[in-house]
Parts: sequence; structure tokens; C-alpha cells
Amino acid sequence: MKILLIEDDLDLGNGVRFALADQGFDVIWVRRKEDALHQLELCVPELILLDLGLPDGDGMSLMTRLRQQLRGMPVIILQDRLCGLDAGADDYLVKPFVLAELLARVRALARRSYGFENEAIEIRGLSLHIPTRRVTVSARHVELTASEYALLETLMLRADRVLTRRYLEERIFGTKENLSNALDVHMGNLRRKIGDGFVRTVRGVGYVIDTVPVQKAAG
Ligand code: CA
Repeated sequence: MKILLIEDDLDLGNGVRFALADQGFDVIWVRRKEDALHQLELCVPELILLDLGLPDGDGMSLMTRLRQQLRGMPVIILQDRLCGLDAGADDYLVKPFVLAELLARVRALARRSYGFENEAIEIRGLSLHIPTRRVTVSARHVELTASEYALLETLMLRADRVLTRRYLEERIFGTKENLSNALDVHMGNLRRKIGDGFVRTVRGVGYVIDTVPVQKAAG
């Protein structure tokens, strides 16, 4: 899961980035409003952590813009002090905050944004435990690389929705550039490890994991 961290404070930014990366989140850290806008053109994060006091402009105007451009994107505001403002953020933390508290809020929002209350997902014997990134098929543990795991998590969190190649490439590799066949390679390896019958190719569009297997047409 990709998180865009917008925070100019070096110590705080570093601490938050390390803590989130340690929990398996994919963190992009920027320290200026301008860089945040640039990043948002390159990739679509799944959650934004936003400091309101930025060196090149106030985070509030960025928040307003995010709300217009990225409807439904969860945002947690990192505030320097409690000023009681309502910027339409999903949550906020007043500095200094405890990292464990931030992690708990990030996890809660991540689950909410996907509509999942649980931290584990199970589809037809294939299960994924998000906090530990543990994947099992019929209780057998499967060892995945970071890219394979990201691919599987993305597909499972959005089960029954066909995800385009472009969408998956942005999520997994964080870029809109052409990556030739990297996605095919990771998809091939993932399928080999979890077994056939989970990831279905929708020709010319992308991939989907069906919660109920699709019946092949008779004849
Ligand atoms: Ca600041």
C-alpha cells in the first residue's frame, strides 16, 4: 500500500517513513508542497499524511486541492497544534505524537478505505494477513517477493474488480512510465507460487481475482 508523506521536518519525516516502511507500507516522502503535487502526477497513493506547515505554502490549500482532485482519498493531517479547524481530513494528529498512534490510525484508515474491517482476507482458500504480510494457500505458507505480494494484496483488496495493467503498474512500481513486461514477469511468478485458478486474465484489459469462480460457458 502506497502512502504519500508530506512533511518538511527532517527528524519527524524520517521517523514516520521508517516506522511505516517497517510495517510494510510503501512510503514516498516529500518535504515541499510543489514536490507533493509533482508526486501526485506520477502516482496515485492510497493514503496521504499531510503536514499543514510547509516551507512553500500552507498545507491547507493543498488539502482543498486534494479533496477536489482525489475524492475519497484518505488524508491524515499532522498538525503543529490543535486549532480546531475542519479541513475535511479523515483524521488528524497533533504533534508531537507517538508513532504507534500514527500507525494504528493509518491501519484503521487503510482498512476503511477498502471497506475491510479485518486485517486478513480469505478468498477460496487463498489468504492474506496484512499486518504480517503472510500468504497461505489452503494453510500452506507461500513465500512471495515484495512485488508479488504487492500485486496480490492489490488484487485481493479489490476482488471482483478487473484492474487494468496501467493501474497495477502504478500501484506496484509507482510510475506511469512504460515498464515493458515487468508486470507479466511478476504476475507469472505469483501465479506459479499460489497456483492456477486465482488470478484471471481479462484479455486486453487486465486481471481480477474472483471471490466466486467464473463458470466457463458450456460447449
Ligand atoms: Ca512543518
